[in-house]
Amino acid sequence: MNPPFSFDLQLASPRGFCAGVDRAITIVERALELYGAPIYVRHEIVHNPHVVRRLKAKGVIFVEEIDETIPQNSYVIFSAHGVSPFVEERAKELNLNVLNATCPLVTKVHVEAKRYAKKGFSILLIGHADHVEVQGTLGHAVGQIQVVETVEDIPKVKVADESKVAYLTQTTLSLDDTAEIIAGLKKRFPQIVGPAKDDICYATQNRQNAVKAMAKRVDLVLVVGAPNSSNTLRLVEVAKAKGVSSRRIESAEELEHDWFIGVKTIGITAGASAPEDVVQGIVKKLQEISPSSALEEFSLVDENVTFGLPAELKIPTVSQEQASS
Ligand code: SF4
Repeated sequence: MNPPFSFDLQLASPRGFCAGVDRAITIVERALELYGAPIYVRHEIVHNPHVVRRLKAKGVIFVEEIDETIPQNSYVIFSAHGVSPFVEERAKELNLNVLNATCPLVTKVHVEAKRYAKKGFSILLIGHADHVEVQGTLGHAVGQIQVVETVEDIPKVKVADESKVAYLTQTTLSLDDTAEIIAGLKKRFPQIVGPAKDDICYATQNRQNAVKAMAKRVDLVLVVGAPNSSNTLRLVEVAKAKGVSSRRIESAEELEHDWFIGVKTIGITAGASAPEDVVQGIVKKLQEISPSSALEEFSLVDENVTFGLPAELKIPTVSQEQASS
């Protein structure tokens, strides 16, 4: 028999889908509309099983690599995490039609990597070596770029010329951990150069800042998102670093009553690839568990960032349609 629970809910804002995820999913849906199924997508379009399952049901085939099993002239979409130039080359060799859903903020890091490489810099990419975004970025500066994952890696770094070192960062890291690594790199390489601040994207920053502020007001933070979503995992870490118990959760079915013993207020947030209807499903279930729950939106900043679609997928305006008819 479960004890009766009585907790309140705070829903962090901003949470969930960012502009890059929204754009990537729209690219796939628009490609399905225009070209029909099947549409191939390299890697999970965004790191969320709900999104992947829904798109599979509409006729998307997800592949980890571009290879001969994809029929010539098929449409292939690169995921929001970006790819290395070798993947683009391979798609060309296999006569595939490419639609690129790489988030523009990841593309910005690719451009920075190419620019530093061209100038002969050794590039230190702060990030997780096994993350698909990092693997894509590495391909843009082959032979001149290496990954720094932690502060402990800094003494092991070898560069050709200490006066020509640059750093870049993965877009979805912890702001605090990254600041610590950058400080360590600046100490070891006083002439190191990098972006004005770091490459951590606005969505990652806003979600982490909201969780930090919310952590003071709650006893438990639930972070909605997948285990392979970097920004989701960082949100759990950020809450824990603020001294609050935190759990990652993918759907309402995963909620366990034991988590709520002694809990008066639960904070809820979601990683940048978690759909809002999944968040709302979790809120609904929590309100069933504690029927007297008060629900409050905890809003830190308004987000109004949007990214345009590739030209070939844009929805024509009425005047464009009239001009072509
Ligand atoms: Fe782009 Fe940031 Fe969203 Fe990743 S989390 S898709 S970098 S906006």
